[in-house]
Amino acid sequence: MDYEKLTQDLPNILKSLEQYYMTTYLDASGAITYTNNLFLQTSKWTPKRVLGKTIWQMFPDTTAGQDQAHLIWTELSSGNVWSGMVEKVNRLGEQYFVNMTAIPIQHEDEGLVSIVLFEMDITEDVQLRDRLEKIAYIDHETGLMSRHSLESTVNRLIANNDHFTFVYITIDHFYTLKDLHSDEEAKEIIKSFTNRMKRFFKDDSIARIGINEFVVLTQFGSWYVESFLDFLKMHPIYINNTALELSVSGGIVRFPEDQSTYPHLMKTALTATRETIDEGGGRIRTLSTASHKKLNRKALIDRKLQTALLENELQVVYQPQVDISTGKVILYEALVRWNNSELGTVSPDELIPVAEENGLIDKIGAFVLKEAAGLAAKWHAEGHNLKISVNSSVREFNNPNFKKEFMQILNKATCPPSLIQLEITEKFAFKAEEESSIFRQMNDLQSEGIEFALDDFGTGYASFRYMQDLPISKIKIDKLFIQSITTSEQTKKLVEGMIQFGKSMGFYVIAEGVETKVQFRILEEMGIDAVQGYYLGLPTSVQNINLPLSK
Ligand code: C2E
Ligand code: CA
Ligand code: CA
Repeated sequence: MDYEKLTQDLPNILKSLEQYYMTTYLDASGAITYTNNLFLQTSKWTPKRVLGKTIWQMFPDTTAGQDQAHLIWTELSSGNVWSGMVEKVNRLGEQYFVNMTAIPIQHEDEGLVSIVLFEMDITEDVQLRDRLEKIAYIDHETGLMSRHSLESTVNRLIANNDHFTFVYITIDHFYTLKDLHSDEEAKEIIKSFTNRMKRFFKDDSIARIGINEFVVLTQFGSWYVESFLDFLKMHPIYINNTALELSVSGGIVRFPEDQSTYPHLMKTALTATRETIDEGGGRIRTLSTASHKKLNRKALIDRKLQTALLENELQVVYQPQVDISTGKVILYEALVRWNNSELGTVSPDELIPVAEENGLIDKIGAFVLKEAAGLAAKWHAEGHNLKISVNSSVREFNNPNFKKEFMQILNKATCPPSLIQLEITEKFAFKAEEESSIFRQMNDLQSEGIEFALDDFGTGYASFRYMQDLPISKIKIDKLFIQSITTSEQTKKLVEGMIQFGKSMGFYVIAEGVETKVQFRILEEMGIDAVQGYYLGLPTSVQNINLPLSK
């Protein structure tokens, strides 16, 4: 075997490999510097957009996904090859599965210089396995019940009105567990952990619902479940002959006392688990009373929102924005309000996330826009020179007909587009930058005369690129910063920097949440273009707005 010959043939070998494997090069910081076509096809990225993205952005934005990315990165940084199965997301956020081999390339004095990833798409295999599991109702690796069989078991218990405890259990920091860097070891841990569970929860139903996530259905209460942690301590798991201290977190929910449907049991147990993890993990416990209340309220909001829309329970209030150069109110921001006999006042911060989840955000957006357009047209006819700014959610733009429906509402209200402005948040901008359909609809709306403002500026992942690429003409500095400009010298400098930077990029810069005269003066001095906040005016219903006499 002529090894030297093989080395000479490497460029040809690479070419052949590239025909079968998605191939990606990363620089030493993890940023993508090259990908082949196979990768682009599967990941749905375009070359222009993918270059410069980091390896982390290719992994799902979940704890497990990010932990795994971190683990792979740690291995590569220490000069080791990593190989195993990986769940990834494409540009549209859809999951796909690959077998990945990640190879660090090191130069003698420079250390790590680049990384090459070879990936084989195995999504079909994984999906086939999932389908088989669905039929067999069994998790093939552990022999435990699958997620599907868990659901039907729970539904059967509920139908029989059998009381039970629903326990969600997850292994903490699974992917960063010490010494865990191969698929084999991960499998070994799961296998041993499953054995411990089977021994402890002998007569109970156990399901595996994620890589390191399990559910137990038991007749016993929380004292019994919690003692599983002591059992684990007494029966540690051995990997490569060393005992592994497994930390486990979990949440406990009772049927029928706490929740009465499968989705609610699951959601509540998951929330309780998150609470435990946030407090450092290593425990299994019930949901706190406060969270329980919050969750029930959320469920109620979800249920009542549809009727609220039909029965006109929603209202819009308007908050003035003062332009510094003229000293006049030139715009009002439309903010949604909901008062319900049972729920009391539901703030938009409670309402919008629920509406985004259940899809009613489209209807809410259309309702607010209709109100705003009607009012803007009326003011216009009365001779006032006022714009109305409407908040929008990225979910609304996911509707490919958003622009069309938007313009129809304006036409119906005979509202000139130049009177309406849309506020988008940074999270939105992040999405818009990646999804060409959102981007296109924004551009189309802009050509119709709609202006865009970037809301809550400074709180998210502000990227200079959005500000250049997206059709934004204004930025609104978040109230969080404004509220501490009088107490923190550092924040004050930060705000001054944001104003200067914004203006130098040609943006109209607004400060929101201005509550005091002192804040107002400071901002004015710094050269802000406009201000909004309780100091200038509260959000009020139309009837209570006093406009100056029109010309
Ligand atoms: P936002 O767009 O940042 O709106 C400003 C929020 O700050 C409003 O809260 C407003 O009432 C409040 N605010 C105004 N001035 C002051 C002040 O001086 N001090 C303080 N502390 N707060 C002030 P609101 O009305 O509760 O709305 C919360 C968020 O809900 C909004 O934040 C916006 O992101 C969202 N939202 C409201 N209405 C809609 C809507 O119709 N559609 C969508 N998609 N989102 C909406
Ligand atoms: Ca806003
Ligand atoms: Ca804001």
